[in-house]
Amino acid sequence: MKYYTALSLLLLSVVSSAKPAYSPAPSQSTLPAPQQVLGFTVGDWHARHDQIQRYFEQLDAASARAQLEVIGYSHEQRPLLQLVLSSERNMQRLEQIRQQHVAAARDGATLPDDAPVVIWLGYSVHGNEPSGANAAMLVAQYLAAAETAEVKQWLENAIILLQPVLNPDGHDRFALWANMHKGAAPVADPQHREHIEPWPNGRPNHYWFDLNRDWLLLQHPESRARIAQYQQWLPNVVGDYHEMGTNSSYFFQPGIPSRNYPLTPKRNFELTAELAQFHAAAFDERGQLYYTEESFDDFYVGKGSTYPDIQGSVGILFEQASSRGHLQDSINGPLSFSATIQNQLTASLSTIRGAVAKRAELLAYQQSFYKSALQQARASKIKGYMLTESADKTRLAALLDVLQRHHVQVYALSRDWQDDDNSYAAGSSYYVPLQQPQYRLIKAMFSTEKTFKDNTFYDVSAWTLPYAYNIAFTALNREPASSLLSSSWPAAPAKAPPLTAGAYAYAFNWQDQQAPLFLQALLAEQLVVRAAMKDFSALSGDGEISLPAGSMVVAAGLQQQQDWFERLQRVQQRFTLPLQAIRSGLTPTGSDLGSHNFSPVQLPQVLLLAGPGMSSTEAGEAWYNLERLAGISPSMAEPQRLAQLDLSRYSHIILPDGNYRSWQDTEVTKLRQWLEQGGVLWGHKGGAAWLARVGLLKTGVWQGEEMSSLIPADNLQYQDKELLAGKQRIAGAIYQAELDLSHPLTFGLTSNRLPVFKNSTSLLQPSHKPFVNVALYSEQPQLAGYTAAEYLPRIKQSAVLLAHNAGKGRVIAMTDNPVFRGYFYGSSRLLVNALYLGHSFSADAG
Ligand SMILES: [Zn+2]
Repeated sequence: MKYYTALSLLLLSVVSSAKPAYSPAPSQSTLPAPQQVLGFTVGDWHARHDQIQRYFEQLDAASARAQLEVIGYSHEQRPLLQLVLSSERNMQRLEQIRQQHVAAARDGATLPDDAPVVIWLGYSVHGNEPSGANAAMLVAQYLAAAETAEVKQWLENAIILLQPVLNPDGHDRFALWANMHKGAAPVADPQHREHIEPWPNGRPNHYWFDLNRDWLLLQHPESRARIAQYQQWLPNVVGDYHEMGTNSSYFFQPGIPSRNYPLTPKRNFELTAELAQFHAAAFDERGQLYYTEESFDDFYVGKGSTYPDIQGSVGILFEQASSRGHLQDSINGPLSFSATIQNQLTASLSTIRGAVAKRAELLAYQQSFYKSALQQARASKIKGYMLTESADKTRLAALLDVLQRHHVQVYALSRDWQDDDNSYAAGSSYYVPLQQPQYRLIKAMFSTEKTFKDNTFYDVSAWTLPYAYNIAFTALNREPASSLLSSSWPAAPAKAPPLTAGAYAYAFNWQDQQAPLFLQALLAEQLVVRAAMKDFSALSGDGEISLPAGSMVVAAGLQQQQDWFERLQRVQQRFTLPLQAIRSGLTPTGSDLGSHNFSPVQLPQVLLLAGPGMSSTEAGEAWYNLERLAGISPSMAEPQRLAQLDLSRYSHIILPDGNYRSWQDTEVTKLRQWLEQGGVLWGHKGGAAWLARVGLLKTGVWQGEEMSSLIPADNLQYQDKELLAGKQRIAGAIYQAELDLSHPLTFGLTSNRLPVFKNSTSLLQPSHKPFVNVALYSEQPQLAGYTAAEYLPRIKQSAVLLAHNAGKGRVIAMTDNPVFRGYFYGSSRLLVNALYLGHSFSADAG
């Protein structure tokens, strides 16, 4: 160990003697320096997450100012790190400080005059933007080791929560790529492999999700761990350190003023601008270029720099031009990795300097934020929201879980209640009052806004959580009496009771979100299962039970395995879904169990196309949701390999969004032959459009220029260019689909209205043949978010979901992405149904 350290230090002194050291450099100290632990100077190589972790562990062990916590684990089981830094005195009473801080913020308790400001520094949520993660070591070292009066004053007046690597899986994917291509002399040529990552790049996490869109949605362990810390601490300032294009300079917020989120108080933007003075001064001093106010917005509240804004904190986005490797030519000359790290160090320290200088203002702002939230709630006509869902308690519980992770108070209705318009049943109704500290966050989560001051969106314009979960919600002007509201919820259903042996058949309802996982487990155990194509009732030990269309039946007489009942029991014990024992094949209503209206279900063998030319985000969303909602880990293959694949292994092929330009006649013929043999081919967005273009899907598609031409572009000036582009896009809005609930692909859904997420202008035309249109947009399809008025008539004429026969197989196509960002649990059911019920319908498209 010693030998290597000495050797690398020696090498460093030779190789990097010309390079200026990072500034400010920490004082001489007995604390470990990063290069002693890494074996190289920060910036000479891309430090892997485990190397960064080792440095923080050693710093933690050596410094009384620093405390390292593992706050969770990434998908790939890398520890998620948080280093708490403050003065020794503060570190000794950290928990007391935290409690006082939170009580003052949320409950208006009085703060001691010397209360520290809480500063959160989060780095490299995008894995291929590593300057932040590497700078984090220098920031921590400086704060732990410096003996200057200024740093001592910072630490006395601040608690610093430093999260060095927010996305360790993506970070390591990129670090390995950059390091494995590093030349002895760095190659600055932008065309060099080092600077061109393969698909999928290091930006997203294990499942190729953008973690910087998941702050509100919380679909991933990285986000859940982070938000738990956030809510524990309620920081006053959040620094979110990123990278952007190589030819840029440096950006810090304020962003584009007209694109701020309307519920964020004006004072937030004033404080952002005041803090910007500190960044500007630091960059001026170093002669570094930067800009503000012309890029990025603060609209979608699910990002690292916006989530804090809606909770009394000041979130600040920082963007450094990326060297994307060790050294890269740019329009501003060669950009080195070290230079990018230096800027992040500068901006981290200016954040601390600014936040400490503005300590009193920031603390006062946070208190006034929550106070005014309660005042606004009191003045609001809407008192709260009632959430109701009776058929799928699992899906409802998933939404409630997200609300609670954000410290939103939710109450179960303990007795049935009726207001002037509706009645709400206890057991399936939950009330979210607005009169609570998270008033603004709740308003943001439930917003159905359709008109906006500025129609250009950097990200989505709508994210209404209950729509995504397909949970009915009602804004109430009168609230239920507090005696009807219970903060202790009905206990989650216990494991299902033991099964009675000897029944004629066993059946379960398809409406619960667990049902597909249950079915998949049964099929994997080689049980024979049939799906009911129509509603029916059956006789159980307790009398007559109703089973809606889609219910799954395990008939004793069809089982092939000798120990099938033990297998059934084994699976049943993993779920809470009730399994009904049926006494007889003769049913009181609907088809008898031997009828052809029960369709056999097969174990799906799924191929998911995932590779260059496709959106890795959307392919990842399909992958993640197949696993979580159906228990299926698909085979994945690049579209370029299709011609070589043995497709006979697969029952289903899924084409997510992408351009599929590499596919020619060979691929079309191959897919057609596979369909002839009985395959089920699913495509959505770009995948669906491609199916239509090559004639595998029997309908037309409106897209691209044809759609844009609907927006008038006459008499525009050059300055209107961005405005026009904003109108032409659908950045992300929620629409209402109208379903044919008698079609097997919609089984399990109980309402014929389903919210779908639209972020493309590609539209499938409806079929003129009967039974092919499974879902169309409704008469009033706009639910939330921005869409140019000119597009609406065209959307109303379009189809959401089409499905028809192709040989012995089926083609199923959806205009929109059913699994957007992993939280559209409602529409994701359509994709899940295609896996199990893809052969249960027959519709001739001619
Ligand atoms: Zn980024």
